[in-house]
Amino acid sequence: MARYTGPVCKLCRREGQKLFLKGTKCFTEKCPIERRPYAPGQHGQAAARKRKASEYAHQLREKQKVKRIYGVSEKPFRNLFEKAAHQTGITGENLLVALESRLDNIVYRMGFGSSRKEARQLIRHRHVQVNGRTVDVPSFQVEPGDEVRIAAKSKDILPVQASLAAKTRPTTVGWLAVDEGTRTGRMVGRPTRADIPLAVQEQLIVELYSK
Ligand code: SF4
Repeated sequence: MARYTGPVCKLCRREGQKLFLKGTKCFTEKCPIERRPYAPGQHGQAAARKRKASEYAHQLREKQKVKRIYGVSEKPFRNLFEKAAHQTGITGENLLVALESRLDNIVYRMGFGSSRKEARQLIRHRHVQVNGRTVDVPSFQVEPGDEVRIAAKSKDILPVQASLAAKTRPTTVGWLAVDEGTRTGRMVGRPTRADIPLAVQEQLIVELYSK
């Protein structure tokens, strides 16, 4: 599936909640979802008044929401799910931990990018290193103990400076140690479900894919 390149605020309105896809702008400008808290399109308001959604619709919306939050398309998302299902533990939690361990998410959570999209761009433009080596693959899985840093030549580029200054990074993420001054961070350990500040019901995704 091709990557979505349309207006991202519509995605938030479709899911009925703020997904924080625009980085610092989500905190500084009037968020459209507050003014128009219904799905986009001609029938958005009418749909909000319609009868209760089916169980399948709930499951589908939850999957779409998580995919949109992390900016992952269907095939890699499904692949991560398959891996999560073969690990020990709770499949839904395993899936979220794998998504949190993606390099683009780690760069975002460390505060070096104001959104996952911006973090992905930093990675693709070769501004990010893992254990001293440049990695330009946003889906790269970071392991506990790995050091993630902004390359020395890119330490003071505008997006990194603006993101750190805006302080939109989610409240202290205990499983990541960050030194903003040197633009360096380390994954101390894998996050648990309690460490992942997402209001999603991952069990619904497991149910959807298990049909
Ligand atoms: Fe979503 Fe941010 Fe747009 Fe608000 S401003 S609708 S949180 S992307």
